[in-house]
Amino acid sequence: MTRIAILGSTGSIGTQALDICRRHPERFRVAALTARSSREKLFEQVREFRPEMAGLAEDDIPLNEIPEDLRFCRWMSGAEALKAAAAEVPADQVLVSIVGIAGLKSVLDALEAGRQVLLANKEALVTGGHLVMDLAKRMGKPILPVDSEHSAIFQCLQAAGGNPAEKILLTASGGPFRTWDRERIERATPREALKHPNWSMGAKITVDSASMFNKGLEIIEARWLFDMPEDRIRVVIHPESIVHSAIVFRDGAVLAQLGMPDMRVPIGYAMTYPERVETGVPAPDLAAIGRLTFEEPDTEKFPATELAREALRAGGAACTVLNGANEAAVAAFLREEIPFGEIARRVENALERLAGLPADSIGDIMEADRRARACVGKG
Ligand code: NDP
Ligand code: MG
Repeated sequence: MTRIAILGSTGSIGTQALDICRRHPERFRVAALTARSSREKLFEQVREFRPEMAGLAEDDIPLNEIPEDLRFCRWMSGAEALKAAAAEVPADQVLVSIVGIAGLKSVLDALEAGRQVLLANKEALVTGGHLVMDLAKRMGKPILPVDSEHSAIFQCLQAAGGNPAEKILLTASGGPFRTWDRERIERATPREALKHPNWSMGAKITVDSASMFNKGLEIIEARWLFDMPEDRIRVVIHPESIVHSAIVFRDGAVLAQLGMPDMRVPIGYAMTYPERVETGVPAPDLAAIGRLTFEEPDTEKFPATELAREALRAGGAACTVLNGANEAAVAAFLREEIPFGEIARRVENALERLAGLPADSIGDIMEADRRARACVGKG
């Protein structure tokens, strides 16, 4: 039996991970569940999966508001709830599927406690990649990627028989604005940005997919997970989202992983690695799909991946600044305070104004994040 704690269980990744648990009750025992504030949804999950502990990160639940049949579970709130789920409740695996830099502390807590971390929260590697990878190495607990591209690369590396990858080909759907012109992208509304052509995901990452900041964050994520310099990570636009990423060998061979665009495959692989189990997802019918297409990314229309590369080259806390400024700008866009085109400009401006901040400790990283958000607020 694998005991799993799920941070962010009410979200897109969290609910799909619970679907895998539901399909394999003989394999998984849910140890802890946390959400930010979705109390009713969390109540339902606790009723079904009966974890030892549950909690809300941004909301208090007085005991008298917890349904009587759910009082068997230890209820917590705030930062303590996240800490308990990541590191105190006995568990083998911790799936970190919360959104944003909030995930960094949980990843470090879980590693410190000797847990196997299944990582969906890319922001933890973007902001604290060096701290996370160092600690994972020291604890002898490699991070298992959940992000579909990184899972694909990881699966290809498993199949490589020790041959090193010369390059990584990171595929990107191109998002809903791929074929739009610059002016139309500039004026895109939250409704339009939230309509992803292939994947159904949480709001923040869906907006990031439209701006290509998601791919920028993924370049940084790949740099840390696979210790690959930025100039050997190539982004390829692949609108069908069937090839999830690939690696290139020195003999010219390319190894790719294919599958339907359904996160249950990479989530399931991380949960049962190195085995594979049934996930409810069919294999793609290639003849029915017919064509798979690839094209160069347009970095003029979508500057996010270039900004991410610049941040990686700058070092220090530049990637944290990029991430924090983007989180704040996406939130402002979703509140309809700034136009879509302003997201990348605010991030670029923050990177220019906050160059050279250190990232030696989690304190430095949190400070750089705070300053990046403040910088975006000022416009
Ligand atoms: P969602 O917005 O769907 O879900 C986020 C979950 O985390 C919810 O349970 C939410 O609780 C909780 N949460 C949000 N913010 C906080 C916080 N500050 N502290 C504690 N808990 C919080 O996000 P996704 O599932 O889409 O994404 C989760 C992570 O996985 C992100 O880092 C994303 O980049 C990454 N990812 C997601 C993919 C996807 O397909 N969705 C693909 C690849 C990576 P509540 O419900 O109460 O708000
Ligand atoms: Mg991805």
